[in-house]
Amino acid sequence: MSNHQAWLPLINFIRQHYGVAEGLIPLHAPCFDEAEKRLVVDCIDSTFVSSVGQYVTEFEQTVAEFTGAKHAVAVVNGTMGLYLALKVVGLQPNDLVLTQSLSFVATANAIKMHQADPVFVDVERETLGLCPDSLNAFLAEQTQLKNGQCIHRQTGRVIRACVPMHTLGFPARIDQILEICNQYHVALVEDAAESLGSFYKAQHTGTFGKMGVFSFNGNKVITTGGGGMLITDDTELARHAKHLSTTAKIPHAWLFEHDEAAYNMRMPNLNAALGLAQMQKLPAFLAEKHQLAQAYQQSPGLVMIKQPKNAQANYWLNALQCESEVERDAFLELCNGQNIQARPLWTPMHQLPIYADCLRSELPNTEWLAALVVNLPSGVKCHD
Ligand SMILES: *Cc1c(COP(=O)(O)O)cnc(C)c1O
Repeated sequence: MSNHQAWLPLINFIRQHYGVAEGLIPLHAPCFDEAEKRLVVDCIDSTFVSSVGQYVTEFEQTVAEFTGAKHAVAVVNGTMGLYLALKVVGLQPNDLVLTQSLSFVATANAIKMHQADPVFVDVERETLGLCPDSLNAFLAEQTQLKNGQCIHRQTGRVIRACVPMHTLGFPARIDQILEICNQYHVALVEDAAESLGSFYKAQHTGTFGKMGVFSFNGNKVITTGGGGMLITDDTELARHAKHLSTTAKIPHAWLFEHDEAAYNMRMPNLNAALGLAQMQKLPAFLAEKHQLAQAYQQSPGLVMIKQPKNAQANYWLNALQCESEVERDAFLELCNGQNIQARPLWTPMHQLPIYADCLRSELPNTEWLAALVVNLPSGVKCHD
């Protein structure tokens, strides 16, 4: 499909679905009603809008329960959540971290903030997530175990962690990735920023590795304005993450004593109030997003990315696979020209000058997907 005529049914479908005849149709707008207002106003009325308050704990408990994780730690945003997760699993300056080039820049930035460097391995065309075979090949060919650590032979640097990302909410083959990470003594941290509500083999994404990290930015499945959360089954990692995110203060009624040089990364109570209200709606959001995904998938002539085998995707963003880069660009031009927000995937990290010098394996699938895939409007409709 390369001429504009062929795309018109899709454009009409999107306009009809959202009930917007002419105005802007955003890629993924948040949806609030009285329930959010009630909790946020209640939070304001309580005066506990900041670092103290019950909503943070309630929001953490709700997310832990939903995902089946033992512990959850709310933080200021997903990027800092990834940074903190890498910190508590022991990432050191000069270490290497295996990850995918096909991701939002925050994944690589969280590694770089530790003065460590990402190593890019390829993704799969089917899942859009880190490819277990590419990961295994890199580790088998370029590393050796020394004193229980995975050493990159050529540079002598420690490969401390692996951060796969559940791209657009499509679960990666995370059980295989975990097995490989365990075999090579590499800590698995899941970038689950996009995958709240996505399951692999009936287990929630983010609960396979040592830690998983969600984002509640305004465009994600649910939002707290800005925010993030770490989940883990490891009581000590959870305790340490919470401690570091809250200035490492030793609990005391009036004394200010701190036992580590730490951070202020806590999520304000005001944001947590919004998040708690959003969590109540998550099941309804997911059901509606599945319906929209079905409708896109049933549109004649469209090649849509579908949830992989054994997986239940949240369909955060629906993904259309174009036939060529030229066709993709024409489609983006047409949609955006008509006030419908469609966008390509991210420019792969290894193609950004800031990450061009990083170690990497061959990335054919990364480049193929980045050239062809377009995200279509995927937010839920806001019923008033
Ligand atoms: C949104 C996102 C993040 C980080 O989110 P913020 O909350 O905006 O800091 C990290 N990784 C991926 C893949 C994301 O999509």
